[in-house]
Amino acid sequence: MPAWTRSFARLLNLFLESNCPLCQRSTANAFCLDCQRQVQRCQLHHFQPSERGSLPLLAWGGYEGALKRSLAALKYNNSPQLARPLGHWLAQAWLESPLVAVKPITVVPIPMHEAKKRQRGFNQAELLAEAFCDVAKVPLQRHGLVRVRETEAQFRLSATERSQNLANAFEVNESLRDGRPQSAVLLLDDIYTTGATANAAVAALRRHRVAVCGMVAVAKS
Ligand SMILES: [Zn+2]
Repeated sequence: MPAWTRSFARLLNLFLESNCPLCQRSTANAFCLDCQRQVQRCQLHHFQPSERGSLPLLAWGGYEGALKRSLAALKYNNSPQLARPLGHWLAQAWLESPLVAVKPITVVPIPMHEAKKRQRGFNQAELLAEAFCDVAKVPLQRHGLVRVRETEAQFRLSATERSQNLANAFEVNESLRDGRPQSAVLLLDDIYTTGATANAAVAALRRHRVAVCGMVAVAKS
C-alpha cells in the first residue's frame, strides 16, 4: 500500500472511530471489545413463563455491572448508538426463547411522555425496538402506545405506589385499537423492575381488546 493510501486510511479511521461510552477508549464499534465482553457477561437468558396471570417475560441480562452502566450511558450520557447492539442481542435471545412460537406479533415499545422525550432527544425503548425488529424480522408499531400522563420517577416508590402512579398513564394509539392489526403485541422496554409499567401498558391495551403475548427487556433488576 503506498504511503499516501496508508495515511488516507488512517485519516478515515480517525473519523469513523469514536470513544467507547464505558471506558472512553477509541473504537470503531458501539463498545470497545473489552467492554463488550464485560456487558455480555451480564447475559442471563432469563425466561419467566406466565404465572398467575402475569405476562411471560424475557430479560436479556441482569441489571448490574457493565450492563447497568451501558443503560445509564445510553439514557443519560447521550449514547443512543448503544441501543443497536443491545437490541440485537435481545432479539437473538427472543429467537431462542419459547416466546418466538407466538405468531404473528407486533413490537410496541414502552413510550415516554412527549415532554421527557423532547428533553432527552429520543426514547431508548423505541431505539432498542428498532434494533430488535431489524434482527427479529417482525413489525414495529413505534407509537402503538402513548404516554398521556407524566409520572413520578418510579425508583422512589413502593410497589403499591408504583401501580397508583402509573394508573391511566398509557393510551392506545388508533392504529392498534379494536383488534387492528390482527397480531399479538410484544412489549419492549429497557429495564424491567416490578412489572408495574408492563401491567399498566397491558391494562391500556386490554381496554381496547388488543392481545398481549409477552414482554422483552434488556435487563431485569
Ligand atoms: Zn470500553
